[in-house]
Amino acid sequence: MTSLGFQFDNTYLDLPEALYSKLSPVPVTKPEMVILNLPLAIEMGLDFSGMSPDEQAALFAGNVVPDGAEPLAQAYAGHQFGHFTILGDGRAIVLGEHVTPSGQRLDVQFKGSGRTPYSRGGDGRAALGPMLREYVISEAMHALKVPTTRSLAVVTTGEQVHRETDLPGAILTRIGSSHLRVGTFQYAVMQQDKGILESLVYYTIERHFPSIKRAANKTLSLLEAVLEKQADLVAHWMRVGFIHGVMNTDNVALSGETIDYGPCAFMDAFDPGTVFSSIDHKGRYAFANQPSITQWNLARFAETLLPILDEDIKHASEIAEQVLRSFGPLYKEKWFSMMRAKLGFTGEREEDESLVTDLLDWMHGAEADYTNTFRDLTQDEPPQGKPYDDKAFLSWHARWRERLAQEENDMEASLALMNASNPAVIPRNHKVEQALDAATNGDLQPMRDLLAGLENPYEGRTALTPYQSPPKPEERVRQTFCGT
Ligand code: AMP
Ligand code: MG
Repeated sequence: MTSLGFQFDNTYLDLPEALYSKLSPVPVTKPEMVILNLPLAIEMGLDFSGMSPDEQAALFAGNVVPDGAEPLAQAYAGHQFGHFTILGDGRAIVLGEHVTPSGQRLDVQFKGSGRTPYSRGGDGRAALGPMLREYVISEAMHALKVPTTRSLAVVTTGEQVHRETDLPGAILTRIGSSHLRVGTFQYAVMQQDKGILESLVYYTIERHFPSIKRAANKTLSLLEAVLEKQADLVAHWMRVGFIHGVMNTDNVALSGETIDYGPCAFMDAFDPGTVFSSIDHKGRYAFANQPSITQWNLARFAETLLPILDEDIKHASEIAEQVLRSFGPLYKEKWFSMMRAKLGFTGEREEDESLVTDLLDWMHGAEADYTNTFRDLTQDEPPQGKPYDDKAFLSWHARWRERLAQEENDMEASLALMNASNPAVIPRNHKVEQALDAATNGDLQPMRDLLAGLENPYEGRTALTPYQSPPKPEERVRQTFCGT
C-alpha cells in the first residue's frame, strides 16, 4: 500500500491485557465507498488520493489493514438506563492511534466491523442509515463547535444486516481523541486489581490531562478535570438544543467529546421534556435532564476511583462527594454564562437570570422554535408574525432591549456574541431522516446537500433555507431509533 500518512503509535496496548482483545476486523464481501471526509483527512495529515475507489473501500472496510495498525477491541462496562452491564466493543475495532502532523493523538476506529469477544448476541455489524446518521450529526456538531468525535468515512459492505427488515450493511470510520469511557473505569474496577485501575488512571492523565501529572493527588485532580469537561460539554448541548438520547456511562467519553450518536436529535420547538429515542420510555435522557444525568454519570465515575482516591475509604468517599457537589454550581455558572451570550450580554447584571428564564418559559408556552427564536432576536426590530405577535413576548423584548442598552460594549459586540452563540442552522431531524432514507435507497444527493448546508452554521442568512425551517406538522419526526 502506498504511504497514506498514517503515523501509528499504539499506546493502548501498554495497558493491562484485561482491558482489550487484539483482533482484526472481519473482512466483508464487497466494500464500496459511500463518503470520505476530505477536509478531516487533510487535517489529520492523511492522503488517500493515490488510491482507487476500490482500494479506499477495502481500507475503510478493514479488509486491508494499513502498516503500523494494531487493531483491538476495548473492554468496558456501563450503566444502561441505570442498570449495570458488562459491554465492550461488540461491533467496533480501534485500528490504532494516529499521531497527526500537529502532534494530536487520535483513535481511528471502525464501527460495524464484525463480531468481537464482546459481541454477546449481536452480529457485530451496523446498517447504512445509522452510520450515516452518526457521520452527519457528528460533523454538524463539529461545525457547531461542540466537542465531538469525528467521522472520516462510511463504506457499504455488500452484505445485508438483519434488523426489523434487511438493511444494507455499512462501516463508519470514527475518529476520537480516545475511546476511554466512564465504562472503561467501571470495567477496570471489576477486575479487583488496584494495579489495573492505577494504570488506567495514569494512562488517562497522560493522554488527556497531562497538566495534572504533578498534582499532589492525581486521582482527585482527574475527577475534577473530567467533571469540568463534562459540565462544559452538556452546557454546549443545551446551547444548541441537542439531545444525546443514550447517556449511558459507556457513552461518556473522558476526553469530554460527544460520543456514540444513536437516537440523538436536535429539538425544534422548545420543550424541556423533549425525548426522541424510541427506547427511552421514561424520558430519563430528556433534554432538560441532561445536566443531572451528567452528574449521575460522574458519580459512577467517582465511585470507580474510590479505591485509589485515599487509603481510608471513608475519607475517599468524602472527597469524592465534595467534588461531585461542585457540579451543580459549576454547571449553573456555565449555563448562565452561555445563555447570557445567547442573549448578547457581554457583562453580567442581576436581572439576567429572570430574562433568561422568562424567555424560555415563553418559548415553551408558545412552542417557539429554539434555534430560530434566538437568531430572530438579532434583527433590528422585534421579530414579526407567529409566534411573536404576542403581548408577553413583546414585553419581554422591550425588557431585553432595555437591558442591552445598559451594556458597556456597543450593540455590534452584542450582535457578534449572539451570532457566535446561536446557530442559524442545525441538523433538523426531519431533514436528517429524509436524507438518510434517500441514501438507503441509493440516492446520496440529499445527504451531500444537507452536509453542505450544515458546514457554516453561524453564518448569517438572507432568506430562510429549507434547512432552517422547522418541520411542518406532517414532517415532524417524533421518534428516533437506535438501529443497532
Ligand atoms: P450502544 O448502544 O451503541 O452504545 O451499544 C451498547 C453496546 O452494545 C456496546 O457494547 C456495543 O458494542 C454493543 N452493540 C451494539 N450493537 C451491536 C451489534 N450489532 N453487535 C454486537 N454488539 C453490539
Ligand atoms: Mg456505546
